[in-house]
Amino acid sequence: MNTTTLAAGTTGRPTEQDWAAAVNAVRSGLRPGARVLLVCHVNPDGDALGSMLGFAQGLRKLGVTSLQCTFPGALSVPEPLHMPAMDLLIPEGAADPAPDLLVTFDAASESRLGALVDRLETATVSLVLDHHASNTGFGKVSLVDPCAAATSVVAAELLRRLDVPLDREMAECLYIALVTDTGSFKFDLTTPEVHELAARLVAAGIDVGAISRRIFDSRPFGAVRMFGEVMGRAQLEPESAGGRGLVYAVATLDDLAKHQQPPYVLEALIDSVRCVAEADVALLLKQVAPAEWAVSMRSKGGADVSRIAVELGGGGHRLAAGFTGHGTAEQIIDAVRGRLAAQF
Ligand code: AMP
Ligand code: MN
Ligand code: MN
Repeated sequence: MNTTTLAAGTTGRPTEQDWAAAVNAVRSGLRPGARVLLVCHVNPDGDALGSMLGFAQGLRKLGVTSLQCTFPGALSVPEPLHMPAMDLLIPEGAADPAPDLLVTFDAASESRLGALVDRLETATVSLVLDHHASNTGFGKVSLVDPCAAATSVVAAELLRRLDVPLDREMAECLYIALVTDTGSFKFDLTTPEVHELAARLVAAGIDVGAISRRIFDSRPFGAVRMFGEVMGRAQLEPESAGGRGLVYAVATLDDLAKHQQPPYVLEALIDSVRCVAEADVALLLKQVAPAEWAVSMRSKGGADVSRIAVELGGGGHRLAAGFTGHGTAEQIIDAVRGRLAAQF
C-alpha cells in the first residue's frame, strides 16, 4: 500500500508535505460529480462522530454534493452525542462500494472500520485522519498527529488549510469532538493549540453550556443508581501495577436490565473509576454479551495502557485505551493484571 506519511510507531507530527498530500487528496474529491464517503470508527464516540460530521459540513461548503457519512454496525447514535448534520448519516450497507474519495476518522487500525474496511482498496483515494500513536499507517494518504488531543484538531486544521470558513453547526460538531476527547479540556494533551481551536469554535456561536450539560451533566436517574451499585462493588488492589495500584469495576448486563438502562450510559462510568486516588490504573469492564466485554482502561501516567490494549487486540492512547475482552470478568482482569506487572 502506498502510504504517503507516518510509518507505524513513529511519534512524529505530520510534516508540511503530509498536509499538502492531504489537501490534494481532498481536492480530488472536489471534482464535479465526485462521490465522497466518510467513515468513522465502530461504536463511535464524540470525536469519531464530531470530527466526521464537522468535516462533512466543510466538504459541503466546498461544493461536494455526493456525500455519505457512516460507521460500522447499527446506525444508532446515543442521545448525548446527537449533533448537527446527522442527516448525512447512512447505514453502512448503503455506503458507496467504490467512492472517489474515502476519508476515515479517529480509527487507529483497519479493524476499527469493520466491514467498511474494503473501501480502503476500492476507493480511488483514501485519506486517514487520526491522532492515535498506535495508528498502524493504513490508507493511501495518512494524516496522523499523535500530539493532537482529538481527531477534530487534525480535521479542523485541514479545513483551515482548505479555506473553509467555520459556521455554528460545523463548530458544534468539532467542539463536541474536542470536549469529549480532552475530558472538558482536562487531559494531558490540552495544549495552547487546543484552546486556540476551542476559541475559534466558541466564536462561531455555539452554546457551550448546553453542549456540556447534554454530554457530561445529564443522566437518567436509573443510570445514577446503577453507577452507585457498580461502584459499590469496585475493588482496589494497591499492590498491582508494581505497587502503583489498580482499581476496577464490573458492569454486567444484569445491572443494565435491573435499572432498564441502554449500554451507552456506561461510557461515562470510567470517569468515576479513574478518580480513585490510590490507583494509577483504572479498569472498567462493560458486559456486552455473556462472555464478551468492552474494556476501558485509564492510567495516571505510570502505566502505558495502550500497550496492554494493543496486546489484547484493542488500541488507544498511553493514558486511555480499550479492547474487547472474551471470557469471564476475572479472566480479563487477570490478563490486565499480568501485563501491568510486566511493565514494572
Ligand atoms: P474508551 O475507554 O472506550 O473511552 O476508549 C479509550 C480509547 O481506547 C479510545 O481512544 C478508543 O479509540 C480506544 N479503544 C477503546 N476500545 C477499543 C477497541 N476495542 N479497539 C481499539 N481501540 C479501542
Ligand atoms: Mn474515538
Ligand atoms: Mn479521538
